Amino acid sequence: MIMSTIDLNLQAVHRSIAAAATGAGRAVDAVTLLAVSKTFDADAVLAAVSAGQRAFGENYLQEALDKMRDVAALTPVALAWHFIGPIQSNKTRPIAEHFDWVHTVERIKIAQRLAEQRPEGMAPLNICLQVNISGEASKSGVAPDELPGLAQAVAALPRLRLRGLMAIPEPTDDVDAQRAAFARLRGLYERLRAGGLALDTLSMGMSSDLGAAIAEGATIVRVGSAIFGARTYA
Ligand SMILES: *Cc1c(COP(=O)(O)O)cnc(C)c1O
Repeated sequence: MIMSTIDLNLQAVHRSIAAAATGAGRAVDAVTLLAVSKTFDADAVLAAVSAGQRAFGENYLQEALDKMRDVAALTPVALAWHFIGPIQSNKTRPIAEHFDWVHTVERIKIAQRLAEQRPEGMAPLNICLQVNISGEASKSGVAPDELPGLAQAVAALPRLRLRGLMAIPEPTDDVDAQRAAFARLRGLYERLRAGGLALDTLSMGMSSDLGAAIAEGATIVRVGSAIFGARTYA
């Protein structure tokens, strides 16, 4: 059998995840791999599905909706779709109607719209709050001191299930600095849990820093280029 590049890449990413989890004394299956398929087409998703991958992350709404339709026409396999891009308030309805998870909620207004627009017949929409753990280096995410209020408000909304926190730290090659940033997110997560919120998800770590993220407790790593290759933007 000839393995596709995507298949081989997925195997390598799974080995990295297993090594990082084992090194941290964590169970390998405590970490879920989210394959970030933005800019790649339905055939690339199909190749990953054939290799056993089931959860996919997308950043751009229209691209995602087109791809989800194309993929559904090509395979009956049930997949989980995670929205991980910036959310415009006038685009919440298709997100509420088509995705299983949203990782990038940073304002109560967006959460309220997602709650109102999540169809009654569907399972609750899983939500992660995006936190700005890099200060002025990042414009995205709720500030840490505003996080507890936002978390309590989102947890109270119907048709949403608040699962945890997500962050995209300022990129750095320094592993200690990577770990310090992820440790800040983990600290905020532990404080919310101690305050009574039933959270189970830390969405952190990408192709270049997944080892540090797993060492600090990541439960979802979002990996794109290490699986699908370098992205080119049209
Ligand atoms: C693109 C993207 C990723 C994947 O990044 P890679 O470096 O290609 O692994 C992960 N998370 C978010 C939010 C992204 O936008």
